Amino acid sequence: MESETCIAELENDIRALRKQLIQKVQQLKTLKKHFQKNCINKLNNNEIARYSRQIILSGIGVQGQLKLKRASVLVVGAGGLGCPSSLYLAGAGIGRIGILDYDEVELTNLHRQLLHTESSIGLAKVESAEAFLEQLNSQIEIVTHHTQLSSDNALRILELYDIIVDATDNVATRYLLNDACILLNKPLVSGSALQLEGQLTVYNYNGGPCYRCLFPNPPPPETVTNCGDGGVLGAITGVIGALQALETIKIILGNEGVLSGRLLLFDGQQSTFRNLKLRSKKADCAVCSEGASLTKLIDYEQFCNMKATDKDSHLSLLEPHERITVQEYKELADKGVPRMLIDVRGANQFEICQLPASVNIPIDDILKNRRTDEILEHVSRMTTSASMPVFIVCRRGNDSQLAVRHLSPLFQKSGMSLPRDIVGGLHAWTRGIDPDFPIY
Ligand SMILES: [Zn+2]
Repeated sequence: MESETCIAELENDIRALRKQLIQKVQQLKTLKKHFQKNCINKLNNNEIARYSRQIILSGIGVQGQLKLKRASVLVVGAGGLGCPSSLYLAGAGIGRIGILDYDEVELTNLHRQLLHTESSIGLAKVESAEAFLEQLNSQIEIVTHHTQLSSDNALRILELYDIIVDATDNVATRYLLNDACILLNKPLVSGSALQLEGQLTVYNYNGGPCYRCLFPNPPPPETVTNCGDGGVLGAITGVIGALQALETIKIILGNEGVLSGRLLLFDGQQSTFRNLKLRSKKADCAVCSEGASLTKLIDYEQFCNMKATDKDSHLSLLEPHERITVQEYKELADKGVPRMLIDVRGANQFEICQLPASVNIPIDDILKNRRTDEILEHVSRMTTSASMPVFIVCRRGNDSQLAVRHLSPLFQKSGMSLPRDIVGGLHAWTRGIDPDFPIY
């Protein structure tokens, strides 16, 4: 009993100390903010020493460093691009950096999102990023926005900053950021990275085009690949994120050579950079032209028919009778029912883990009809009286639906019973059947 009281007392003490710590940190922040505001027209000794290697550059100087100090930048997304870009912006002494992200740190982030560490798994990404950046540079202010950017909050948040860095990975947010930046007249530094390639450009700067000038209409959802599906190498996001910081710094300094009206393509395989000239501002652009039809933000998820998150989205292409649950599949397998299980993931993913007796035929081969004959032949060879059931599985149950939609007419033509997809793919298998099956 005595020790229980003792534990409770200690826990109370710790809670009180934590509360005190939070209050002190807040106090310190307010004081620093006040102090910074009062000396935006000169550099202190810490700043002179800290930034000396860039101050001595001819394009920067003391006046340039003061411009950086007075500037504010919002980095939208604290992931693969947001980590390196905010790191270099903080290092360079941007006076106020906002970090916006709704998500928490996961193990699958750590190979590329290097502001986060193993000990920050489960923490909000904005908190983890803030802690890292404050350790790097105590002379600047870091502001966090732990929220999902939406049409309701975008203008309110973006108007607090001079320049916006798009470090997200989804089409709906790209349109949202573009339109909000046009409405608020702010430059948008846009980057993307996938697999071994990256892209970079600056929208709405110096009379250059906006995202909508180039892409008036969103692409079909099934043609969009994100890093969760397509994969990405951390060094690629590092390159593009660092370049986003560079463009941002050039805009603040008013230097020439800003990547407006041009698109930089980085091929990490060949180590080549290419610079494409983009079309100029579209005379009838819906948002940035004289007679723009869009004068306020819209519902971007509806406009793009895609979720505005970088999380894996769930397609819903098939009817219930074209699908089977992991539980139903497990039952068939346990009974030893003859069947064919096609795993449509790429060969590298198939090598990570696979269900017993599955055959690997990647989705690309199916959609391009490269190996569909093989499937049809295999099924008709194995079939005795009734047609042998064919099931399709992938990682999360999206590609498997595309495969079923593609294969069904071919099966129908051959008089075979139609293929079905396993709902939720291997992720559902781990969740519902075998918790030891690897998840990635
Ligand atoms: Zn436009």
